[in-house]
Amino acid sequence: MAQAVTHKYCSSCVDNVKAQKNPIRHGVHLVLSVLTVGCWLAVYLLIVIPWHMFGKHYKCTICGKNVSSFTKSPEKIAVLKAKRNNRIEQKIAKMSK
Ligand SMILES: [Zn+2]
Repeated sequence: MAQAVTHKYCSSCVDNVKAQKNPIRHGVHLVLSVLTVGCWLAVYLLIVIPWHMFGKHYKCTICGKNVSSFTKSPEKIAVLKAKRNNRIEQKIAKMSK
Protein backbone atom coordinates (compact mmCIF):
# COMPACT_ATOMS: atom_id res chain seq x y z
CA MET A 1 0.00 0.00 0.00
CA ALA A 2 1.32 3.48 -0.85
CA GLN A 3 2.48 5.56 2.09
CA ALA A 4 1.87 9.31 2.20
CA VAL A 5 5.08 11.32 2.45
CA THR A 6 5.27 15.00 3.41
CA HIS A 7 7.62 17.39 5.17
CA LYS A 8 7.37 17.99 8.94
CA TYR A 9 9.64 19.22 11.73
CA CYS A 10 11.45 16.51 13.71
CA SER A 11 12.60 17.64 17.17
CA SER A 12 15.04 14.72 17.37
CA CYS A 13 16.80 15.54 14.08
CA VAL A 14 16.30 19.32 14.64
CA ASP A 15 15.30 19.82 11.02
CA ASN A 16 12.44 19.71 8.58
CA VAL A 17 12.45 16.14 7.36
CA LYS A 18 10.48 13.82 5.16
CA ALA A 19 7.75 12.28 7.25
CA GLN A 20 5.89 9.14 6.38
CA LYS A 21 2.33 8.34 7.31
CA ASN A 22 1.76 4.74 8.17
CA PRO A 23 -1.74 3.97 6.96
CA ILE A 24 -4.07 1.63 8.75
CA ARG A 25 -4.68 -1.51 6.73
CA HIS A 26 -8.46 -1.54 6.78
CA GLY A 27 -8.63 -4.66 4.60
CA VAL A 28 -6.66 -6.74 7.11
CA HIS A 29 -8.97 -5.58 9.92
CA LEU A 30 -12.02 -6.38 7.81
CA VAL A 31 -10.76 -9.93 7.19
CA LEU A 32 -9.93 -10.40 10.89
CA SER A 33 -13.36 -9.08 11.86
CA VAL A 34 -15.06 -11.58 9.54
CA LEU A 35 -12.88 -14.47 10.76
CA THR A 36 -13.56 -13.67 14.43
CA VAL A 37 -17.28 -13.10 13.83
CA GLY A 38 -16.96 -9.41 14.73
CA CYS A 39 -14.83 -9.78 17.86
CA TRP A 40 -11.92 -8.01 16.15
CA LEU A 41 -14.04 -4.84 15.69
CA ALA A 42 -13.28 -3.83 19.30
CA VAL A 43 -9.54 -4.02 18.65
CA TYR A 44 -9.97 -2.22 15.33
CA LEU A 45 -11.80 0.67 17.03
CA LEU A 46 -9.09 0.89 19.71
CA ILE A 47 -6.55 1.38 16.91
CA VAL A 48 -8.53 3.63 14.55
CA ILE A 49 -10.04 6.13 17.02
CA PRO A 50 -6.74 7.27 18.66
CA TRP A 51 -5.05 7.24 15.24
CA HIS A 52 -7.54 9.82 13.95
CA MET A 53 -7.94 11.78 17.22
CA PHE A 54 -4.33 12.41 18.16
CA GLY A 55 -2.79 12.69 14.70
CA LYS A 56 0.61 11.32 15.77
CA HIS A 57 0.78 9.07 12.76
CA TYR A 58 3.63 10.77 10.89
CA LYS A 59 7.09 9.42 11.56
CA CYS A 60 10.47 10.87 10.62
CA THR A 61 12.02 8.87 7.78
CA ILE A 62 15.50 9.41 9.31
CA CYS A 63 15.11 8.58 13.01
CA GLY A 64 11.65 6.99 13.05
CA LYS A 65 10.25 9.19 15.85
CA ASN A 66 6.86 10.89 15.76
CA VAL A 67 7.02 14.37 14.26
CA SER A 68 5.07 17.58 14.86
CA SER A 69 2.31 18.78 12.60
CA PHE A 70 4.22 21.73 11.17
CA THR A 71 7.52 22.64 9.56
CA LYS A 72 9.74 25.36 11.06
CA SER A 73 11.42 28.25 9.26
CA PRO A 74 15.11 27.87 8.34
CA GLU A 75 15.96 30.73 10.77
CA LYS A 76 14.26 28.97 13.69
CA ILE A 77 16.00 25.69 12.81
CA ALA A 78 19.38 27.47 12.74
CA VAL A 79 18.73 28.81 16.27
CA LEU A 80 17.64 25.38 17.53
CA LYS A 81 20.70 23.69 15.97
CA ALA A 82 23.02 26.28 17.55
CA LYS A 83 21.44 25.60 20.98
CA ARG A 84 21.83 21.84 20.49
CA ASN A 85 25.46 22.24 19.42
CA ASN A 86 26.17 24.42 22.50
CA ARG A 87 24.72 21.71 24.78
CA ILE A 88 26.88 19.07 23.09
CA GLU A 89 30.00 21.23 23.41
CA GLN A 90 29.27 21.81 27.12
CA LYS A 91 28.91 18.07 27.71
CA ILE A 92 32.17 17.38 25.91
CA ALA A 93 33.91 20.10 27.93
CA LYS A 94 32.59 18.56 31.20
CA MET A 95 33.71 15.07 30.17
CA SER A 96 37.20 16.19 29.22
CA LYS A 97 37.82 17.89 32.62
ZN1 LIG B 1 14.05 12.58 12.96
